[in-house]
Amino acid sequence: MQDRELYRRILGIEAPWYVDSVELKQEAGEIHVRLGHDDMIHWPCPECGAACKLYDHQPERQWRHLDTCQYQTILHAEPPRSDCGDHGVRVVKMPWAEPSGRFTALFEALAIEWLKAASQKAVAGLLRLSWDEIHGILERAVKRGLARRKAERVSQIGVDEKAFRKGHSYLTVVNDLVRSRVLYVAEDRKQSSLDGFWETLTAEQINGIEAVAIDMWDPYIASLRSHVPEADGKIVSDKFHVAQHLGNAVDKVRRKENKTLKASGDDRLAGTRYDWLKNPTSMEPKDRKEFAELRNSELKTARAWALKETAMTLYSYIYERPARKHFRWWHSWAVRSRLQPMIEVARMLKRRFENIITYLRHRITNATSESINAKIQWVKYTARGFRNKQNFVHAIYFHCGGLDLAPQSTK
Ligand SMILES: [Zn+2]
Repeated sequence: MQDRELYRRILGIEAPWYVDSVELKQEAGEIHVRLGHDDMIHWPCPECGAACKLYDHQPERQWRHLDTCQYQTILHAEPPRSDCGDHGVRVVKMPWAEPSGRFTALFEALAIEWLKAASQKAVAGLLRLSWDEIHGILERAVKRGLARRKAERVSQIGVDEKAFRKGHSYLTVVNDLVRSRVLYVAEDRKQSSLDGFWETLTAEQINGIEAVAIDMWDPYIASLRSHVPEADGKIVSDKFHVAQHLGNAVDKVRRKENKTLKASGDDRLAGTRYDWLKNPTSMEPKDRKEFAELRNSELKTARAWALKETAMTLYSYIYERPARKHFRWWHSWAVRSRLQPMIEVARMLKRRFENIITYLRHRITNATSESINAKIQWVKYTARGFRNKQNFVHAIYFHCGGLDLAPQSTK
């Protein structure tokens, strides 16, 4: 078999295209494959597919293809332009690449598969691509995937903020809690950050939203209220954030009390911060016994802890009425506790109670988002070295968006 025929078969080149020449540049470690085409009278218009007259050819272009063993393999061809009665002069579709791509579709598909499993840096190194090239492949893949997304029903979503550089800048991430995928990523955590999400949905999709798990963050609530009908019955302040607020209040009580106790030589509370956050059933038996003594003591921290645990029993109710009664009772206990941090958190929870009690109706939390978050952490780790936020946003869509990323021509 001649090298031309071999390459025609390897590349899957079909009529009217053929391999004109194959040139090995040993020094450079490259193989150059030149493609030509039969003299066709008609070329399909890229817009409507109508058979059109050949207008002319563009200057020669190159596409990087999958390597042949250790040799970088580069295709060369002059793209024909068709002259369509309806669409005018257009470059015809090349079967091996997407319009204006500098890589063949198979090469991009390979890079995409590798990117799913390894860091951008590793893939760039292995495929001998620059940062810009590897990121271009990733960005195009995301664009394709987003364009292919269907207007599916998204009944339960979660809105989460994500720190980009610790404490300095944020991303807003919207998750599909049912399919466990990222739907939307925007810069910042303002109302406008979430506002952009609604534009990506159809009116039918917005109406189909049944429940939204969120942090207790007013800009998000404002965006929901102005876009989602009957939002208040659908907003569920995330259970874990409620627990976190209560836990922080307990810790404030503990820190203050610890100082007072230490002054009189009592260090019972020193180093116990995490014990008060843990579930006692997950402790070692020995620690559990020690902790039981602490929490049954007369300490203020023990009282604060009891308040926190009692507040969280709200989540084990099935019916709303007794749950509301429980909360009223708990609230009046908390505000009379004389523990300032607990009083403050009780007031805050009361103010937001209508968005907390909705949990009993919808039973959703951002826990699904937490598993997406773990994946986002991985993305952040494998994308290190990519300085800008836009790279990070694309990588989140790429890895967590559940998108169909493959280039068209390889399908
Ligand atoms: Zn046309």
